[in-house]
Amino acid sequence: MKRIFIDADKCDGCMNCTLACMNAHRNDGEEDIYTLDLGGAESESRCFIRLGAGKSYKPIFCRHCDEPMCVTSCMSGAMSKDPETGLVTYDENKCGACFMCVMNCPFGLPKPDTLTRQKVIKCDFCEGREEGPACVKACPKEAIYVEEVR
Ligand code: SF4
Ligand code: SF4
Ligand code: SF4
Repeated sequence: MKRIFIDADKCDGCMNCTLACMNAHRNDGEEDIYTLDLGGAESESRCFIRLGAGKSYKPIFCRHCDEPMCVTSCMSGAMSKDPETGLVTYDENKCGACFMCVMNCPFGLPKPDTLTRQKVIKCDFCEGREEGPACVKACPKEAIYVEEVR
């Protein structure tokens, strides 16, 4: 199983990771970052950088938790943990838009989508992307990285 880890001390807040996440989730078939609509509701980032104390930066990423509160609080079964990959996945077709997952994630990760407020924006570990998580590849500081866990 693979997980994203964070070394917040290395983060300089460049937000390359969030741009890469947006670019990986756009649905216009384009890949050139210079044509990315930064305000595009369909390509919202699944990771965030918060400004911490003393101009430090806090990368906020889904942990795909061992005991995910988003899953236990989701009554419709839209959030689930894959027993093989360990990844926490979201099925918008099952989502009732109650946003219990948003309220219960201890890391403040999932959020309602800006356009419709009827689905949840959450990390999908760049499912189906051959190169792996776009955010990790885009980070020039190696502040976010993938490791194999048991
Ligand atoms: S959304 Fe939050 S609770 Fe759910 S797996 Fe990610 S970090 Fe854990
Ligand atoms: S793994 Fe993919 S979906 Fe998750 S935060 Fe990184 S770029 Fe976004
Ligand atoms: S790309 Fe790396 S250094 Fe830049 S904001 Fe993201 S985590 Fe921080």
